[in-house]
Amino acid sequence: MDCCRMKEAAEHNMKMHPMWQEPLAIPGGDRQSPIDIVIRKSVYDSELKPLVTDYDPQTCQQIWNNGYSFLVEYDDTTDKSTVKGGPLQDKYRLCQFHFHWGESNAWGSEHTVDRKLFSAELHLVHWNSDKYSLFEEAVMEENGLAVIGVFLKVGKRHEGLQKLVDALPAIRHKNSVVDFNRFDPACLLPSNTDDYWTYHGSLTTPPLTESVTWMVMKQHIEVSHDQLAVFRSLLFTAADEEVQKGMVNNFRVQQSQCGRTVRSSFSPFLQEAPSAEEGKH
Ligand SMILES: [Zn+2]
Repeated sequence: MDCCRMKEAAEHNMKMHPMWQEPLAIPGGDRQSPIDIVIRKSVYDSELKPLVTDYDPQTCQQIWNNGYSFLVEYDDTTDKSTVKGGPLQDKYRLCQFHFHWGESNAWGSEHTVDRKLFSAELHLVHWNSDKYSLFEEAVMEENGLAVIGVFLKVGKRHEGLQKLVDALPAIRHKNSVVDFNRFDPACLLPSNTDDYWTYHGSLTTPPLTESVTWMVMKQHIEVSHDQLAVFRSLLFTAADEEVQKGMVNNFRVQQSQCGRTVRSSFSPFLQEAPSAEEGKH
């Protein structure tokens, strides 16, 4: 029942976003993403190893406004930029990263932690190059993809992100692409990548395949309001469209957990108590 209601919500969402115009066959439907991560229900797994990312900034190629987000794309014809370790049995190649964000700083992330929303969320998308030979093949398969999720909170300016922010005005409209080189995606990871939640889920954009091992970082990164404002200055629409639409709220609605377990690489009982500040509305 719960899953069905979630699907209706997902269909409603389709009407609101440019990528959700056409009815989509949601495969299976009981391992969809994003979800709310409930800390007290997450299960500490001491076997979960630290993540090992090895990125070569030289593989960075271009930025593309795909009409839903902007994708920073990497050359994935060799194993030069990879992630392994953590919950992963194999080596996964980085193909792109992108963000989801809101029209206001009060929301924008796809995942939430104990219902807490963040202003934006970064997704680093990798595919299993030990088992498959192309992203297009891996995307359909079990353990085909590994996505690292990082929450963004508004605070001080992120120096590493600024090079990317400066390039965005060149891809304001849908379908625009510009060369973008030597960007090290590691600069967008939080300082602590040992602590994360992991679960089996799906892509949050079409084709929504349930091929993703999610690794959502416990620690967020900070970006400035002005940096997020440049994200919001992008457009969902192409240059020749009469009515231009600002690229905001490009996140999918939350999906039902459907009995899945979220594992954590850290013990939730060893966390510092939430501060009084965070308890306020
Ligand atoms: Zn995403």
